[in-house]
Amino acid sequence: MGKKTTILTLVLLLAVPALAQEVQFDRWFTGGTLRLDCLREGSAQGDTVWVEHWIDRRSDWFGSRTQLLDPFDNGDYRVVMRDAATGRELYSRGYSNLFREYKDTPEGKTVKARFEETLLLPVPKGKVLIALQKRDGEMRLQDQTVVAFDPLTTPMDTLEVPPTEGFEYEFMNHGDRVSFELYGDSYNHIDVAFVMQGFDDMENEAYKAVCRRMKKVLLGKEPFASHRYDFNVYFVRGDAGVEYNTFGADRYAMTFKVWQLHDVLGTTPCDHIIIVLNNEKYGGGAIYNFYSVTSLHKMAESVLPHELGHGIGGLADEYVDEDLSYADLHRTAYEPLEPNITNLVDFKHKWQSLLPEGTPVPTPNEEVPRTENGPLGVYEGAGYSSKGVYRPAMNCMMRNYAPFCPVCHKRLEEVIGLYSR
Ligand SMILES: [Zn+2]
Repeated sequence: MGKKTTILTLVLLLAVPALAQEVQFDRWFTGGTLRLDCLREGSAQGDTVWVEHWIDRRSDWFGSRTQLLDPFDNGDYRVVMRDAATGRELYSRGYSNLFREYKDTPEGKTVKARFEETLLLPVPKGKVLIALQKRDGEMRLQDQTVVAFDPLTTPMDTLEVPPTEGFEYEFMNHGDRVSFELYGDSYNHIDVAFVMQGFDDMENEAYKAVCRRMKKVLLGKEPFASHRYDFNVYFVRGDAGVEYNTFGADRYAMTFKVWQLHDVLGTTPCDHIIIVLNNEKYGGGAIYNFYSVTSLHKMAESVLPHELGHGIGGLADEYVDEDLSYADLHRTAYEPLEPNITNLVDFKHKWQSLLPEGTPVPTPNEEVPRTENGPLGVYEGAGYSSKGVYRPAMNCMMRNYAPFCPVCHKRLEEVIGLYSR
């Protein structure tokens, strides 16, 4: 009888490896937030990354307590926290950064430059190893730098900005710097922090109107609209260091001062950061799990959801622009990381299972009104290339500000689920 029970237990254990691996938050983490300010230095020839400051953020952990391991193979980089004793993975997140784009510029091919990165992690109860990973030549993630962290002995800086306490559950019931609209606890809601650059001297009523507009832009389009109660929204006034003309592209507005951006955020929960510029000039940008930027341009209602597709969803552009220096970025021997484009190297891991039976691959382009996606297919012309890279629909937010196509929609739903469970 005893033996039978053992065999049964073994069979059960083997059958549920995913369950057995789930990380119990309270077992491993204190509930606080650790901020790592890192520097990455290099060019396309190679780069190194190291931790410059260990900072006690003095804020509760705002990320999920149940979705600690990143289920997506996306982002050019990844941070992985491992138990020092066993090597077991406790936390991981994929992301990209500005260096990734720099090294594809003419200057970045040879000239070394330094870039700031900030990583926010749950504070572990015991000793851990934190691996900063990047992709190798075959797109596989490899440890680049591994640092040890011991919550009892690692010297920590503390945050100098005042903690943003005294939250009240009412929109615009704000102090001088931070205002918010909360629908629930930060750990099972997606916390979006708007950093409002250039608004310090704006009169209060006008400022409130801008915040209301931005909230509407964020939650106005699907799939965000249906999930509006899964979001908490924060507005923080301060200088994030954003400037136009990033890497010589007039409309590309980004910040190199990532640490300063996080100083402005202070203790504000931020699953995602959106910087809003107080001007009417067209522009913006976004990097996956890093930050997004928009201005008050009249097109912000379209531009911001597109940027969120990059910033929150890790989606690729589905448009064609062969004039770009990186137009052949995805014409490689490896499948692009982003879920919404394919070069057909490994299409079965993209949206093949969603295609209606009998859909030709590739699918001939057809005329579809700009407000509709049209039938799901595999249409040539995506990821800047007119040839060899394919997209799921004739129109999409990631191509021409149409509604998100079913493939993009699905990934955004999955990402929202990652932060709201
Ligand atoms: Zn799409």
